[in-house]
Amino acid sequence: VDIPAHRNFAPRTYRAIPAAAALALLAGALCAERAVAEDEASAIDVQHYRLDLRVDPASKSVRGVVEVRAKPTASASTELILDLSQALTVDAVSLSGTPAQFSHEDDRIRIVMDKAQRNRRSVTITVTYHGTPQGKGFTFAERNGQPAISSFGMPFTARQWWPCKDDPSDKADSADILITVPQPLTAASNGKLVATVPNEDGTRTFHWRVAYPIYPDVMSVAIGEYAMFEERYQAANGAVLPMQFYVFPPDEEKARRDFSVLPDMMSSHVQHFGEYPFLREKYGVAEFATYSFREHQTLPSYADKLITGDHQNDAILAHELAHQWFGNSLTVRDWRHVWLNEGFATYASMLWQERRNGRAAYLEELQKLDEGDLQGPVFMSDVTDNKKLFGAATFNKGAWTLHMLRHVMGDERFFAALRAYVAEYSYRNVTTEDFRAVCERLHGKTLEWFFREWIYGVSRPTYQVSWTSGTAGNEVTLVIRQMQSDVPVFTMPIDVRVTTSAGETQRVVWNDRREQTFPIAAEKGGRVTNVTIDPDGWILKHVLAAASD
Ligand SMILES: [Zn+2]
Repeated sequence: VDIPAHRNFAPRTYRAIPAAAALALLAGALCAERAVAEDEASAIDVQHYRLDLRVDPASKSVRGVVEVRAKPTASASTELILDLSQALTVDAVSLSGTPAQFSHEDDRIRIVMDKAQRNRRSVTITVTYHGTPQGKGFTFAERNGQPAISSFGMPFTARQWWPCKDDPSDKADSADILITVPQPLTAASNGKLVATVPNEDGTRTFHWRVAYPIYPDVMSVAIGEYAMFEERYQAANGAVLPMQFYVFPPDEEKARRDFSVLPDMMSSHVQHFGEYPFLREKYGVAEFATYSFREHQTLPSYADKLITGDHQNDAILAHELAHQWFGNSLTVRDWRHVWLNEGFATYASMLWQERRNGRAAYLEELQKLDEGDLQGPVFMSDVTDNKKLFGAATFNKGAWTLHMLRHVMGDERFFAALRAYVAEYSYRNVTTEDFRAVCERLHGKTLEWFFREWIYGVSRPTYQVSWTSGTAGNEVTLVIRQMQSDVPVFTMPIDVRVTTSAGETQRVVWNDRREQTFPIAAEKGGRVTNVTIDPDGWILKHVLAAASD
């Protein structure tokens, strides 16, 4: 028997694919950005943020007053902490209207709190500040000779432009975002536009209100001389959701073509995950001058270069839309669980393609996601490296994990689990174990082994398959050996297809040993001509060539 070196079982295509290209550009956008881990309690539970920002394109600076209404937590002793980059200057801090003493070091504002304030049920911290934000979290750029100014909410970048508790585990109940910019610029943001006020100095103030829970990294400011257009999505309850797009004028025609698929994507995601979580507000996209994309709540930012007018980046549009469920409504408790955002959003994009183009197209798309470093684990124990947090392991292997879980649970239970997970954790924080618990409830059995292998574990199985046919002709003895050297054994149900001269039989075998023998009887008569494992590609694996008699 001739056994070639490791190769993937499924035929591969090597053309550039949207998902992989998207990942590459996201990683590229991040290379200079190093995230920082949280190591200190802020001693507050945030209820409401009110940002009042004046953004000046000429001086490339921001001047703001931010109010944080919060409950002091049990750990509050003599100080409260907010995150704010040292690049910005704090002019004043007050606590519930009373000027407060503060220090501003190591990107943190420490605010001295007296006993009376500690015992209040709620305090309002008001920070007045100004300066030019440094880092990728907030950028002053130009497009077509006009200012193009925007935030870019990666983990721990909110502090680069406004004082906040920069932690996904503390979602504010609501927010008001007021942005003042010179005419004729438009400032887009999260939630609903409740007022546009012209000021005497030639500026306008755009007041956006968010009535759903939100965390700082997905709060957005997108400023430009935008052209605006709309699509509509009608929900099952009859509500009409405006889909509002803010694009640079030269790109409007291309954007109208590219974004025309979004109502269909919305229908696909709603079918799989339940109703759009921000139905009383909007869904939109704001073009920005950063070569990347980001799922800001109700208004993802999307690079000018991604708007091509020929649907090249539909997969990214479907991905960003899915983040409204996975990331914004259900928000990770901390960034170790980021695959619950990225793996799910990537997988949602695959589901949209399945709904549109059928099962075969879906299976083919999954094979294309077997690209990049998928060694794992999917769970990120180190959250200080944004390139790893947003890399192939969380995006591609995360999506693959859901694909495999679907096969393990079966379609009915798997999709019921996705809907139950969303219903149970909407607007809240989630962990990997929360998702596992919902899946196990629907599955009726433990899935500890599956999560251990694919989320917390590394590598993939390398199967070597051999078979002999019995004297009756339609009986097969199948031997599956696991040849990977870095992990002792993978447990997986494996599809086996037996082909005889009279037709095909498909079975599932439960493989949980290094070397395992399975007797299989083909239903159809005739001589066995071939035996293949996992012919549709439901397992992330390598396969060595089959040996036959
Ligand atoms: Zn994403």
